[in-house]
Amino acid sequence: MHEMTIAMNIIDIVCQKANDENAHKINSVELEIGELSGIMIDSLEFCFEAACKNTIADGAELNIHKIKAEAFCKSCNNNFNMKSNFSPCPTCNNFDFEILKGKELSIKSFNID
Ligand SMILES: [Zn+2]
Repeated sequence: MHEMTIAMNIIDIVCQKANDENAHKINSVELEIGELSGIMIDSLEFCFEAACKNTIADGAELNIHKIKAEAFCKSCNNNFNMKSNFSPCPTCNNFDFEILKGKELSIKSFNID
């Protein structure tokens, strides 16, 4: 299960940082997830809760910010919002584009005590 691995990695990173700052509890974690990251947010939320058990992140709130996918079309020089990895430029129907945003998976911030 992909999302379980991701959830565990996130908790590892946050727990490590909390440890460095002598914190004893993680209250909340804020993530940025791109539309093209392939991550099922529902599934990640579920896994996060499970992965928190028996760590100092137990009961931590998870806030997810979705990042809209954006691409730059090299054929018509337009930026557009991608609907999926397999959709062409809506202006010229070409696939000659560069993805600018939407593949993110990052920890934006977290709150510790
Ligand atoms: Zn185009």
